[in-house]
Amino acid sequence: MDQVDTLVIGAGAVGLAISRALALDGREVMVLEAADAIGTGTSSRNSEVIHAGIYYPAGSLKAKFCIEGKALLYRYCDERGIAHRRCGKLLVATADDEVAQIDCIIAKAAANGVHDLVRLSAAEARAMEPALSCVAAIHSPSTGIVDSHALMLALQGDLENAGGLVAFNTPVVSLAFTRDGIVVRTGDGTELLAQRVVNSAGHGAPLLAARTAGLRAVHVPKQHYAKGNYFTLAGRSPFSRLIYPVPQHAGLGVHLTIDLGGQAKFGPDVEWVKSADDLVVDPRRGDAFYAEVRKYWPALPDGALQAGYAGIRPKISGPDEAAADFVIMGPSVHGVRGLVNLFGIESPGLTSSLAIGVHVAGLLHE
Ligand SMILES: Cc1cc2nc3c(=O)[nH]c(=O)nc-3n(C[C@H](O)[C@H](O)[C@H](O)COP(=O)(O)OP(=O)(O)OC[C@H]3O[C@@H](n4cnc5c(N)ncnc54)[C@H](O)[C@@H]3O)c2cc1C
Repeated sequence: MDQVDTLVIGAGAVGLAISRALALDGREVMVLEAADAIGTGTSSRNSEVIHAGIYYPAGSLKAKFCIEGKALLYRYCDERGIAHRRCGKLLVATADDEVAQIDCIIAKAAANGVHDLVRLSAAEARAMEPALSCVAAIHSPSTGIVDSHALMLALQGDLENAGGLVAFNTPVVSLAFTRDGIVVRTGDGTELLAQRVVNSAGHGAPLLAARTAGLRAVHVPKQHYAKGNYFTLAGRSPFSRLIYPVPQHAGLGVHLTIDLGGQAKFGPDVEWVKSADDLVVDPRRGDAFYAEVRKYWPALPDGALQAGYAGIRPKISGPDEAAADFVIMGPSVHGVRGLVNLFGIESPGLTSSLAIGVHVAGLLHE
């Protein structure tokens, strides 16, 4: 049986950031990826926003990794020439009963260590974005956007320069903990013996954990799928910053983001589905977008929205449950030497990727 020091399963933004961190630590790293390219999963179906770290509960992994990851990501983008823009965002209350939420968000952000938010009156917000309608707002200057594919290519490049490699078309089907290490079996029946394995398979992570002989079922969460549909705007963006309504259960509300080419899109909404493959956008969902968007942009013309793409949040909490934090389980939690499982790496996973990489590399030093 072939042997390798460290196997990482999944070549999304998070798996690549972890592999890079491990390879820069001097480990021999191989990434096993089911698809034929990097970043074909959730990492290519998101808003590409560098989040500021505003919403997440104080002390949560989401807050910690988002804030650490944001700083690391801006620095990495500068160093590596990865396209990005610190465009800022306005978070808007569009009704009087949402104003209290604005104040809560500022307090929550401060508890997380985000102290650059500026509370704006409706007039101040409109001075920044004349097309906007709101009763109050927050300006977050450290929010930005990034070219996620350029980011992943740079991570892959660093991994390969440090001696690592990505094996494509290599789905992992099972793992088994043995005295000699972890035996990883791939779709064509090949077995590899690794001393360390990181399960960063996104939607596939809970299934792989369930197929890990030696890992107790109590350490395997149930996977839920919350689809987020986007609708793109025909024509020029009326805003130069990202515009977010106050957050809603299971999502951040139908917000406006712009990409680096200046194209505006609205979404993602929240649609609970049964499978990670349910990626087709139903154009009829656009009807509900008009009403939501017109709360902050009343001038949205009829017929201006076109069905775009969808991404599916890899949730480990269901529709009626409180939102779960990222779960990153190492040997000190589940007892399997050399194994780290990542579950529920939804937003802000892209922003957090470099910080998660450093954290997981640290867990495998133990
Ligand atoms: C709608 C939406 C919007 C979002 N917006 C943002 C945002 O603006 N900012 C932000 O910070 N975050 C955002 N996120 C979150 C972010 O996209 C994810 O956290 C991040 O991309 C997760 O990366 P990953 O590497 O964990 O997973 P993925 O990108 O899903 O990668 C997992 C990889 O594992 C592979 N795989 C699966 N099973 C196996 C197996 N058995 N064997 C081998 N390979 C396997 C898959 O093919 C895939 O390539 C958003 C997410 C969604 C759904």
